[in-house]
Amino acid sequence: MRYVSTRGRAPELPFLGILLSGLAPDGGLYLPTHYPQISRDELEHWRSLDYATLAVEVLRKYIDDIAPDELAVLCRQTYTAQVYGNGRPDSDCTQITPLRWIEPGLGLLELSNGPTLAFKDMAMQLIGALFEHALHRCGEKLNILGATSGDTGSAAEYAMRGRQGINVFMLSPQGRMSAFQRAQMYSLADANIFNLALAGTFDDCQDIVKQVSADLEFKARLNIGTVNSINWARVLAQVVYYVKGYLAATTASTERVSFCVPSGNFGNVFAGWVAKRMGLPIDQLIVATNENNVLDEFFSSGRYRVRPAAQTQVTSSPSMDISKASNFERYVFDIVGRDAEFVRELWWQIDTAGAFDLTGTALWSKVQASGFASGSSTHADRLRVIRELHATVGLLVDPHTADGIKVARERRTAGGAPIICLETALPAKFEETIIEAIGMSPPRPAAFVGIENRPQRCEPLPVDAAAVKRFIEDHAR
Ligand SMILES: *Cc1c(COP(=O)(O)O)cnc(C)c1O
Repeated sequence: MRYVSTRGRAPELPFLGILLSGLAPDGGLYLPTHYPQISRDELEHWRSLDYATLAVEVLRKYIDDIAPDELAVLCRQTYTAQVYGNGRPDSDCTQITPLRWIEPGLGLLELSNGPTLAFKDMAMQLIGALFEHALHRCGEKLNILGATSGDTGSAAEYAMRGRQGINVFMLSPQGRMSAFQRAQMYSLADANIFNLALAGTFDDCQDIVKQVSADLEFKARLNIGTVNSINWARVLAQVVYYVKGYLAATTASTERVSFCVPSGNFGNVFAGWVAKRMGLPIDQLIVATNENNVLDEFFSSGRYRVRPAAQTQVTSSPSMDISKASNFERYVFDIVGRDAEFVRELWWQIDTAGAFDLTGTALWSKVQASGFASGSSTHADRLRVIRELHATVGLLVDPHTADGIKVARERRTAGGAPIICLETALPAKFEETIIEAIGMSPPRPAAFVGIENRPQRCEPLPVDAAAVKRFIEDHAR
């Protein structure tokens, strides 16, 4: 399998050639040259597989430069009941991603029982194993530099902690994360994890990452890498749970299922698109947004209008406060028939006019025929869903998942395919909103009780790229 860039001006590379990189050198995102197919027989055969074995079957269709038996070792180390048994005590963690029916025709795929209680662990833990494997093979060291407002940083740190050949330098805004998030990251004692607490905002942290990465000499000399949501391997790892969820919800491969996905950067739902393109019998992919509804606007009108950071609302489902969905370019590349020149043209329109509009074009018909639906949710909606599910089913969901359930219910039709909503985090991560909804704190999984009292370690630094570079230089081993 080879990988191409959505902007069409980067060389084709094998999997290991793109694993450690973010953007392609031409500014595009990598995609496989084609989507390998899953036959009906194969799908039926997969029903009996455990999660790790299923992961190997899916991954090997896209990875031919790691031997299948080596891939199997990496998957079996990653997808264990121990790693994914940190969440709800009543969940069957041997399933890794257990499916729970909430009401007739609506299921919840639990993706948040990993070490940081968010679905990002599903892919990030595998990325950690893949990175370590790749670096060992080429004998190199990687210094991962990132910025976080909470969720992504902790998932990355828990995936990379203690790994050979990898250091993590994670910038976070000093004093602007919740006590829980801070404790999650700053209590890690591993020698390869460095938390740099910057005296600024999350945007300041991101700017510093950009500035440091723009110093190409420094970047090359220290082998600076990232683990952001545009990494293809993250998307690929996420394809597996769509297959697993489909199999858990059906008894025969003639049945169809829809998925509803709380979305921000379009990474999670794009993995569903890949699964659908591979032939998984998916009826609809439903994109759920919060008040920052750029994607809902596109799928209901044909107009994709990004917003600057200043117009992005701060909401109670903060991991979806995104108004420029980085993985959306991958979907558009497929919709325009993989015409990279066309993608360049559309993104030129975004850069110059902040939007593109497919209304009334043949492409809009293709979007409408592609099986996507969408909806959005507000603060009041998510509080209502959390309160009501807790009262009726005794199930507590997090604010992002509540956005998904709200939209899934709107989209459900009598006699239609069942909808599986993806659970993107556990309520324990968002105590304030849960208290606002139900008047009490969410239960904490055992591993997180008293986490705020553990010793913490971080490096306070000014908002200054030179200071950050100096720190990396002094600590990269
Ligand atoms: C990252 C995240 C999302 C958004 O996922 P995308 O892949 O960016 O669409 C939704 N919910 C939670 C809790 C997240 O951490």
